[in-house]
Amino acid sequence: MALDTLDFSVMVALAVAVLAYIAKTQFFPSEPESTGFLPTAAVAGRDLLQVIKDNSKNAVIFYGSQTGTAEDYASKLSKELSSRFGLKTMTVDFADYDFDNFADITSDTLCFFLMATYGEGEPTDNANEFYEWLFNEADSLSTLSYTVFGLGNSTYEFYNKVGKDLDAKFEEKGAERFSPYGEGDDGTGTLDEDFLTWKDNVFDSLKNNLNFEEHELTYEPGLKLEESDFLTIEDESVSQGEPDKSYITGSSDLTKGPFDNTHPYLAPITKTRELFTSKDRSCVHVEFDISGSNLRYTTGDHVAIWPSNANETIATFVKAFGLEQKLDTVFDLKALDSTIHLPFPTPISYGAVIRHHLEITGPISRQFLLSISAFAPGAEAKKEVTRLGNDKQAFADEVTTKKLNIADALLLISGGKPWSAVPFEFVIESVSHLQPRYYSISSSSLTEKTTINVTAVVEAEEAGDRFVTGVVTNLLKNVEVEQNHTPFKPAVTYDLEGPRGKYSKFKLPIHVRRSTFKLPTNPSAPVILIGPGTGVAPLRGFVRERVQQKKAGTPIGKTVLFFGCRRENEDYLYREEWPQYAKELGSSFEIHTAFSRETDKKVYVQHKILEQSSKINKLLEDGAFIYVCGDASRMARDVQASLAKVLANERGIAEDKAADLLRSYKVQNRYQEDVW
Ligand code: FAD
Repeated sequence: MALDTLDFSVMVALAVAVLAYIAKTQFFPSEPESTGFLPTAAVAGRDLLQVIKDNSKNAVIFYGSQTGTAEDYASKLSKELSSRFGLKTMTVDFADYDFDNFADITSDTLCFFLMATYGEGEPTDNANEFYEWLFNEADSLSTLSYTVFGLGNSTYEFYNKVGKDLDAKFEEKGAERFSPYGEGDDGTGTLDEDFLTWKDNVFDSLKNNLNFEEHELTYEPGLKLEESDFLTIEDESVSQGEPDKSYITGSSDLTKGPFDNTHPYLAPITKTRELFTSKDRSCVHVEFDISGSNLRYTTGDHVAIWPSNANETIATFVKAFGLEQKLDTVFDLKALDSTIHLPFPTPISYGAVIRHHLEITGPISRQFLLSISAFAPGAEAKKEVTRLGNDKQAFADEVTTKKLNIADALLLISGGKPWSAVPFEFVIESVSHLQPRYYSISSSSLTEKTTINVTAVVEAEEAGDRFVTGVVTNLLKNVEVEQNHTPFKPAVTYDLEGPRGKYSKFKLPIHVRRSTFKLPTNPSAPVILIGPGTGVAPLRGFVRERVQQKKAGTPIGKTVLFFGCRRENEDYLYREEWPQYAKELGSSFEIHTAFSRETDKKVYVQHKILEQSSKINKLLEDGAFIYVCGDASRMARDVQASLAKVLANERGIAEDKAADLLRSYKVQNRYQEDVW
């Protein structure tokens, strides 16, 4: 029987579809593995011991990470231990496993713990459960062979508490430390160098005490990249930089959470405005509408904003690696070991990875220079990169102080030659992954149930012929400029349309992190709010909350706010709002301002606190709660010292006794800090 035209075209279409399917399944034989953010552990199960055994591992690098640094160090350490000592390594996110049989890990498996301390001496979200288990349930750990590195910030009171606690607890439980405890300090900017020092000690212990042989560091990929001959960035299965797989497949209702650091809500930005009046500095107020989702927050929480990179930074990065022709090329990634996570959804293009997944703006590390030296473009560049990688002082003088990013540094080292021999797998594995930035929510969930306000100061500093910029704050400034048609030229520009135009009309991915920074449950308790600069953000939320409570007829305690900035007419945040709140709250509201650049002698909030000594003391006697928000490096300490002086003077006690009293307030949650 002869085929008619319709039958024929149907058969051709079918044949094409079958061929395309065969091609696709051969090219990407195990599609289900390419599940992007799905941790491998989820496939292998949550039984850590089983995963260690199944994959014949003898070195496990655990990380407690909030902003990605500990995770980044863990993956670098893992690769180095494997390359230098032939250890069979795996990295472990605590959140991916159960710990019932943790005590059964035997001493032939070396355990490394990289533990960040977050907030008020707390473990990071992903380490919380393990920490609870260790401190409340764990028995003897006599077969555990371990070492710990703590990541902390000495400007915080509970510096590296988690690392220290873990190390001490392991010792108490009978575990054996095979290399000394180490810790790094982000507050002094020496975290990278502190980590390298600790790592050197670990290597010495491996060589001298455990008899491992050390080899030269070579790059051993943990991922395999395969470029596609037939997929284009337009193919619907290809990631254009969407935050996770569900944004590509549309497989789930994207308005329904849970929303967290693996799955954000794409929130419309309904309003933005510039809060400063000065020409050279900028601070943006941003309002995210969450009414279309089940994302919720309570006053004092933090919102995380998921960024993408600026066009100018991307252009330099692309030039540094000679990737101009590759940006739209699509590739798939395979993990060469089942314990390795794929860091983003695939298939994906080079361009999408660079724009949406790599931290390409920030400083470069000495360790990165050493590891990339094998791929230097020529002998001169190799010599130079090795010199800078090995010489701590030269690196500090020639790279760190100039605030060079990866691309700036590499181009400087090679005299402008592209580093085309660097495998892109190396780039993916060695460059940190772009992380959301956290902001203290500046609205109140009582007054703005479905709107999240953010108050962000824009980080942009001129350095010769270029700008050193912050990723998220400049992105927010770009949104403000576009949305309001503001006649302002931002330091850098962004693609605000997002993958497949999904961010168009001003949307950005966000999630909320619960915070412990909360008003007293009893609204009639007095509060002392101290928040200079953008530290005022959550305090604005607090004041709005109390105004709303008062309107609802609830008796409200005294609210005393200390705010500081440079000049009243320049950066006095929400200047027009405070008189409104004062009107609503009446005599129960007071604001004390410190303008540091309006007088010969600089005046800060801590000076204003001293001026109000007797009032503060009286409020504290009446059960006041203290809230301090903003700069962690100096302000929080200076404020605490001023408060200790207030108590000492007013109560006639020694300052160290007053400091102890303040510490006891902290323990009782009557003195809360939200500092960064
Ligand atoms: P990033 O890209 O993170 O850069 C950080 C800094 O490094 C910038 O100053 C940048 O200019 C500089 N930099 C960039 N490249 C280099 C380089 N190559 N070498 C050296 N330096 C470089 N901030 C607010 O404004 N308001 C808030 O309410 C607020 N709340 C916070 C609450 C919490 C709990 C935390 C943890 C932080 C909060 N922050 C807040 C800080 C905020 O999270 C960001 O850190 C800040 O906005 C900068 O983000 P960014 O992406 O713009 O800069």
